[in-house]
Amino acid sequence: KGIVAIVGRPNVGKSSLFNRIIKQKKSIVENTPGVTRDRIYGTTEWLTREFIVIDTGGITLEDQPFAKEIKIQAEIAIEEADVIVFVLNHKEQLTEEDKMIARILYKTKKPVILAVNKYDKKTNDYVQYEYMSLGLNEPIMMSATHGIGIGDLLDSVIKLLPSANDLNPDMNSRIAIIGRPNVGKSSLVNSLLNETRMIVSEIPGTTIDAVDSVVKVNNIEYTIVDTAGIRKKSKIFRNIEKYSYLRSLTTINGSDIIILMLDSSETITDLDTNIGGLAFEEKKPIIIVANKWDLVEDKEKKILEKEEEIRSYFKYLAYAKVLFVSTRDKTRISKIFSSIEDIKVGLTKKIKTSVFNEVLNKAQLINPAPNFNGGRLKIYYGSQVEAYLPTFVLFVNNPDYAHFSYKRFIENQIRLQFGFEGVPINIIFRERK
Ligand code: GDP
Repeated sequence: KGIVAIVGRPNVGKSSLFNRIIKQKKSIVENTPGVTRDRIYGTTEWLTREFIVIDTGGITLEDQPFAKEIKIQAEIAIEEADVIVFVLNHKEQLTEEDKMIARILYKTKKPVILAVNKYDKKTNDYVQYEYMSLGLNEPIMMSATHGIGIGDLLDSVIKLLPSANDLNPDMNSRIAIIGRPNVGKSSLVNSLLNETRMIVSEIPGTTIDAVDSVVKVNNIEYTIVDTAGIRKKSKIFRNIEKYSYLRSLTTINGSDIIILMLDSSETITDLDTNIGGLAFEEKKPIIIVANKWDLVEDKEKKILEKEEEIRSYFKYLAYAKVLFVSTRDKTRISKIFSSIEDIKVGLTKKIKTSVFNEVLNKAQLINPAPNFNGGRLKIYYGSQVEAYLPTFVLFVNNPDYAHFSYKRFIENQIRLQFGFEGVPINIIFRERK
């Protein structure tokens, strides 16, 4: 999709700009439990080009000097983004912090757009020369609150975003291993890399940190996305919760299938569910892998209880398989890969229209739709349409009559009949003309 990060010292108007950019499109799962409300990113589009925006100002550090915080925000932007928007405040002189950020950004190969906020047309233009002294590009004069220059800014942004083809250069399934620190992600990657033939590929044009690795399991190649990010035991970054969350977003964005890793010897935390929420929002196929199963006593007795507990935290990921593994003892690791193969089957499965309609009819017979919004939903017929994720269009009397719980019922019937384990499916209700 492409990621745009907004940087700048406090009070220049980063959040106003962020809000202005993402306002056009509301997030679908704002009310999903476990999905963070404290948003530092949002998905939006401009001229039909979808992209993700990050407000790095939302990543704060406790007990750290101000300057260090700004510096880290800028570094995060460089690492995670495809395009960086550097915001200045036109109502104030350039400060030392502005200049420090400029120096950090000056070194990156990633495109930087200089956005001078709080601009109104009355101000003299000669000050623009001062901005040029930062050594970046010509500034875009704008106002987030008055909506001046936003279109110009977004035009520049989408021109600089990578095209969809650049993001997916190979045909292997791109696997992301995500999860909070210490659950065992790098242990899994290390054992895969030690046991299999490995090719480390550097994608040109990206930072050296974005390294993907190809592993071969049962003679099938998989690309593990962002191996360096997983294995890196880096300095301060590991301790910033929001960064861990953001890194997951970047990794998810560039992959096809997600492994969400948990630590089965510990209780589930907000960071676990927030990261899971990201995978859900980005609509990716997913497997939940509960690691460190070796540490759990009374395994046979506990397994159902544990799965139920995990599912209660990840209700929105009901379609995901839950696996209990130990990367230390190497138990059930191959199960992860057979589950990935199951997902691939689900992604390419085509349901015959006649069989699909039998299922729809039967579902409505055993459970007719309730009265909702002034009427009763009637599904006349439906079929699967061509799409990356399994997508079904149902022709109905009135889409407004489709209650959330009835939609879920229909989805469950489809899954019961046809599987699709681990794969999100789209069901579109359309009025029959
Ligand atoms: P990451 O931060 O998610 O990459 O986690 P690491 O792979 O660095 O693992 C964190 C700690 O958990 C390390 O001390 C590992 O040795 C330990 N660990 C990882 N997997 C297992 C496991 O299956 N069982 C046990 N008992 N410990 C594990």
